[in-house]
Amino acid sequence: MLLLLNTYPLLVSEDLVFRSKATNLQGSVSVMVNALSGLDRLTEESVSGAMSVAAEAGLSRILVTDAAGRVLYDTRETGGAVGSVALYTEIVQALMGYDAFSCTYRDGAFRSRASSPVLYRNQIIGAVYAYEYDTEQAALLAGLQGNLLRLSAMVGGAVLVLSLILSKALTRKIGRLLTAIRQVREGAYSHRADIRGRDEIAQIGQEFNSLTDRLQTTETARRRFVSDASHELKTPLAAIRLLSDSILQTEAMDPETTREFVADIGREAERLSRITEDLLRLTRLDSGVLEPPAAVDVLPVLEQVLRMMNLVAQEKGVDLTYSAGEDCVVWAARDEIHQVIYNLVDNAVKYSASGGSVQVALFREEDRTVRLTVSDNGAGIPEADLPRIFERFYRVDKARSRAAGGTGLGLAIVSDTVKRRGGAVEAANRPGGGAVFTVQWPGWEGRTSG
Ligand code: ADP
Repeated sequence: MLLLLNTYPLLVSEDLVFRSKATNLQGSVSVMVNALSGLDRLTEESVSGAMSVAAEAGLSRILVTDAAGRVLYDTRETGGAVGSVALYTEIVQALMGYDAFSCTYRDGAFRSRASSPVLYRNQIIGAVYAYEYDTEQAALLAGLQGNLLRLSAMVGGAVLVLSLILSKALTRKIGRLLTAIRQVREGAYSHRADIRGRDEIAQIGQEFNSLTDRLQTTETARRRFVSDASHELKTPLAAIRLLSDSILQTEAMDPETTREFVADIGREAERLSRITEDLLRLTRLDSGVLEPPAAVDVLPVLEQVLRMMNLVAQEKGVDLTYSAGEDCVVWAARDEIHQVIYNLVDNAVKYSASGGSVQVALFREEDRTVRLTVSDNGAGIPEADLPRIFERFYRVDKARSRAAGGTGLGLAIVSDTVKRRGGAVEAANRPGGGAVFTVQWPGWEGRTSG
């Protein structure tokens, strides 16, 4: 842009000066040619007579030659060319019958030359040549050039300073971001990038910070999960060791006690396998590998679970009932649905006191959502624990859960399974006491009733 600014206006002005010079100089030459055109022959005397009235002031030099190019008149006082032959290009062209003009701009001056033939009865009898040496307009042009250069230098300098400042600010921000990324990569998940402003880099910084937030949350959850899982596995293992050590170290243990101890070992082993099964199930859910979905009618699955659970409920003195609407078809896998219903009903029975009742309801809503509710009239869940109830290994009452054979993973499996298929699960307390769990699956669109 600066290059263009420094050349284009100058070229245009130069061209304008050339044009005006051409008109002016050729005009002057034709005035002189007119003055000479009354003569039938050009001689030194006749020419100086005619030129004394016609010669234009302001021109640097005027020459008049005869048809052979010999100079008859020259305005230059010292070193005039009168008598010698002037073979300037313009004069030669004029003697051949053409008007000639040339102009150059060099060394701070415009040098323009023009010449025309002098005719007598259509015969070329000589030529008039004028030369102008102009420094005034050249000075104007040089001034313009100087101004443009100064302006360009100012603009260039300002752009340079501005881009230096900008790039400094930019690299400082990028540097901070890089430091933050490196720190987090090294494991300092609590480190945040401190980048102020509203530009893109600041936005990247904010995005990075929220990414780190998530990373920190995930990392904390992962650590807690690993420590919880090892703790959960440690407890039954410790019990098994204790029991087997007792059997081994007690001499002459009566068979009754031995049987009891071995039965305890069996129970602990069963608990271990329940925990590992649940952990495996969660790991599969985490890996995102799902069974291919199909249209599953939930009612037969529910009935199957309830047939199984009725025995347990009866044993505990819990009344287990259900009601169901039609067309409760969801797009999922049968085993998943089975697992979800089983875990919820199992909990409801487990946490109900003897004589309690558990109701299961299955309905399809207007918007095709399939809704399953499992309610009991047990102790319910303390409000403070409600938001955390679906976390892995979270239990309101650890001892009670363990005693009831719980792993603390049942609801986590329910929640993850349902969410993987685009559904939702919710826990609440019933006004009259007891807990109610609600599962919603997006209904299968393909089915039309009837
Ligand atoms: P657990 O194997 O301990 O039952 P869950 O993940 O199934 O693990 O449930 C987590 C905790 O939620 C339980 O330990 C229990 O405290 C509470 N809970 C679950 N269902 C009920 C319910 N129907 N009534 C009361 N508390 C419940």
